[in-house]
Amino acid sequence: MAEDCLFCKIIDGEVPSDKVYEDDDILVFKDIDPQAPIHLVIIPKQHYDSILAVPAGDPIMGKIQTVISRLAIKMGVTEDGFRVVNNCGPSGGQTVPHLHFHFLAGRDMKWPPG
Ligand code: 5GP
Ligand code: ZN
Repeated sequence: MAEDCLFCKIIDGEVPSDKVYEDDDILVFKDIDPQAPIHLVIIPKQHYDSILAVPAGDPIMGKIQTVISRLAIKMGVTEDGFRVVNNCGPSGGQTVPHLHFHFLAGRDMKWPPG
């Protein structure tokens, strides 16, 4: 756990969240400010500041990919589709420095996102 990390506090239960999925390595919860009818945040339980902090070949990335597929099935959006976003660093729009992926679904998405 990284000190003063909001998402580490969510993992610890110190900050409440609406959990959707959890296993030994990953937690998924609803975003507090949803940008789509379905807006989930996927985080590893181990703290990484961003995707750049994940060592090459770390199994966490494959585990996250598996959870994304499971979420698509669970949310019933395998046919309609969905979007997965990773914001990295200030220009990437990252506001919480704990690696996370946004899972967005339930509306048509525009591209580029702006
Ligand atoms: P970022 O901007 O870093 O890519 O995404 C951070 C996300 O965390 C934002 O979409 C924001 O709404 C969400 N968020 C920030 N604080 C909280 C919180 O306390 N609880 C939950 N569930 N989501 C949060
Ligand atoms: Zn953290």
